[in-house]
Amino acid sequence: MEKIVLNHIYKIYDGGVTAVSDFNLTVQDQEFIVLVGPSGCGKSTTLRMIAGLEEISEGDFLIDNKKMNDVPSKERDIAMVFQNYALYPHMTVYDNMAFGLKLRKFSKQQIQERVHNAAAILDLEKYLDRKPKALSGGQRQRVALGRAIVRDANIFLMDEPLSNLDAKLRVQMRAEITKLHRRLKTTTIYVTHDQTEAMTMATRLVVMKDGIVQQVGTPEEVYGLP
Ligand code: ADP
Ligand code: ADP
Repeated sequence: MEKIVLNHIYKIYDGGVTAVSDFNLTVQDQEFIVLVGPSGCGKSTTLRMIAGLEEISEGDFLIDNKKMNDVPSKERDIAMVFQNYALYPHMTVYDNMAFGLKLRKFSKQQIQERVHNAAAILDLEKYLDRKPKALSGGQRQRVALGRAIVRDANIFLMDEPLSNLDAKLRVQMRAEITKLHRRLKTTTIYVTHDQTEAMTMATRLVVMKDGIVQQVGTPEEVYGLP
């Protein structure tokens, strides 16, 4: 089933920078798409347009066959994970994960259920009372993932979620995110400049350069692996 369709998408920033040019992609339900390419090639801009954090200059963007261009970010059934985690330092792990649900007026019982469920999946049950500063980098990244999971959204967007971790943790979290995707099967678009992440995590990858899609295919097709 077609989950996300991007049809001739352009982003021209005020001042005239064309960050994304004629971007076309159809994402099937449950895919794990990796957008890969060097810094400045337009990956983050593409993700932010899908999230509704950046206006689309030209082209159509659909989710489940519904045109989304003018749907506000809050009304999109999308959860995003950022590079810098964006955790609230004064809140506990529990409250960090619960925050988005409270905003959306979920009942206390639903919030508890979802937070505990996500904490169990991510091995965070012992840390619910801690503040982010008392966690390791990998644990912080898990909380950021937890915040996305509790939303129970149809789409995950991840913007370089591992790039602040040291090499060893990066390898570990790479495997964990892949495992998470196998379990939840949430359609995911994942942005990275790291070819190893692209190669090992993607069901399909999209190679970008200077705002233009160079190649779309499975890791085997793009990197010529056996
Ligand atoms: P990537 O995520 O691949 O590093 P970005 O999407 O962040 O690339 O940036 C793509 C291009 O758009 C770059 O040339 C960048 O300088 C430019 N750009 C990004 N954000 C803005 C902005 N808010 N205003 C103007 N230009 C921007
Ligand atoms: P309030 O909205 O009254 O400030 P919280 O949102 O902090 O309450 O907590 C709501 C419920 O979530 C609590 O009654 C508790 O059962 C559960 N809860 C909160 N923090 C934790 C935690 N660290 N570990 C387990 N359960 C928690």
